[in-house]
Amino acid sequence: MTTNDTNDTNTADTADTGNTGNTAGAGTTTGPASQSPDSYWLASGPGWTGGGTELPRRTGVCVLGAGVMGTTLAYWLARAGERPLVLERNSAPAMGSSGRNAGRMIQGGNAQHALAIEKYGHAEALAIYRATLVNQELTHEVVAREGLRSARFPTAKLDLAVAEDEARELRRTAEALTSDGIAAEWLDRRAAREVFGTDLSDTVLGGLYRPDQDAVHSVAYVRGMADAASRHGAEFVCGITVESVERAADGWIVTTDAGRVHADQVVVALNAWTPRLLPELAPVITPVRGQLVQTAPVSFRIPQWGLDRGLVYGGQAPDGSLLLGGLRNTVPGRDEGVDVPEGGNTPAFSPELAERLAGALPSLLPKTAGVPIVRAWSGVMAFTPDRCPLVGAWPGAEGLWVIAAFNGHGMPYSQVMPEQLAERIRGGRGDGIPAAFDPARFL
Ligand SMILES: Cc1cc2nc3c(=O)[nH]c(=O)nc-3n(C[C@H](O)[C@H](O)[C@H](O)COP(=O)(O)OP(=O)(O)OC[C@H]3O[C@@H](n4cnc5c(N)ncnc54)[C@H](O)[C@@H]3O)c2cc1C
Repeated sequence: MTTNDTNDTNTADTADTGNTGNTAGAGTTTGPASQSPDSYWLASGPGWTGGGTELPRRTGVCVLGAGVMGTTLAYWLARAGERPLVLERNSAPAMGSSGRNAGRMIQGGNAQHALAIEKYGHAEALAIYRATLVNQELTHEVVAREGLRSARFPTAKLDLAVAEDEARELRRTAEALTSDGIAAEWLDRRAAREVFGTDLSDTVLGGLYRPDQDAVHSVAYVRGMADAASRHGAEFVCGITVESVERAADGWIVTTDAGRVHADQVVVALNAWTPRLLPELAPVITPVRGQLVQTAPVSFRIPQWGLDRGLVYGGQAPDGSLLLGGLRNTVPGRDEGVDVPEGGNTPAFSPELAERLAGALPSLLPKTAGVPIVRAWSGVMAFTPDRCPLVGAWPGAEGLWVIAAFNGHGMPYSQVMPEQLAERIRGGRGDGIPAAFDPARFL
């Protein structure tokens, strides 16, 4: 593997177009020899021609950021009869994390269910898990209703154990899920191998199997949601950077590089960029680099998987290629607290991390030895100290809301949290938002 022409200081996305069709590095090396400026999803997804160019002077609800959260929130608000205005810095939706992730929409929160029960208590852990089950139902309904079926792919999830203590933990989660009526089972090594349909490393002891999961083509999904939101009455204005949000006598003033908008209510959906507008959240939100490598297509089908308590994870893209991510913090200080340059979408790409990821794949799946790595990219995640997102009202500031910091795990909430928050914004209860997600816990 060679990394000669990688560039550690490259911020990966200066072209900033809605659809680049970029295939840099494809199929030529056995390592991430050239950094792809775009993710697979951005390179293979649909472009974006929607959205207006004029900034209106007044709006009801102004949503800041057109990632999956801002876009889907606009969809639910518009479906309920509002005409939300979405402001996005890039030229199209899904150019931040939402277009650079692994596309996995896996049930459950950040922690395995047995551990979540210990951390939050049974009722709250179950509320979090159930929210993601509702999310899955909503996703299926919405993609069918809005003509986005081809953006979703059914899959399964296998969390593999290579150490006895991890195997015990996953068995406990299998039992906890089963007793809560959620489909899950512990598979021994042989059964796990059958689910994979290819050889697995001898070090694998078995795994926690959960059927009926989803993956999405991230860019097709988010831009499809943006189109649907627009059809229902949302307005997107892209290519505008929001600079500040200030309270006015009757609502909020949103100042941008293209002028000011007066909004009755404002929702901040800016992921790791949230503290730039809400500095009180700087001590709460840590930007964390996530990075992925992608192989050439392979002939076998595998489920989504996690290994070593999620430290390494992967799955398969619709074209049969394998995605592999993780290995964060294997080098102290490399990935946590990374800087995302002003105006950029990603932290600096790490060739060293890409090398490690590429090297890790054949040791789990021996048949991938020699399969070329064709693409590698990075993105930024927003982590909180308790690994729960921030969804709800900004305390003491009527009409200011936040939906951010999904700790590298936003897709399983990407319909249900926006839908419930839209309900609250419209004066309803929105009681599907777990109490553990309340931003007030930090403020
Ligand atoms: C490598 C990687 C892999 C991942 N894999 C998965 C996965 O498989 N499954 C999963 O559930 N999650 C995954 N995640 C996390 C997931 O991508 C996020 O949780 C989710 O995309 C967050 O959505 P968002 O809308 O909050 O953020 P974003 O998509 O980042 O949206 C924020 C938007 O705000 C815009 N913005 C920022 N500042 C301004 C400003 N001043 N003015 C106007 N607009 C602005 C940005 O341009 C951006 O479009 C992964 C993340 C990474 C980086």
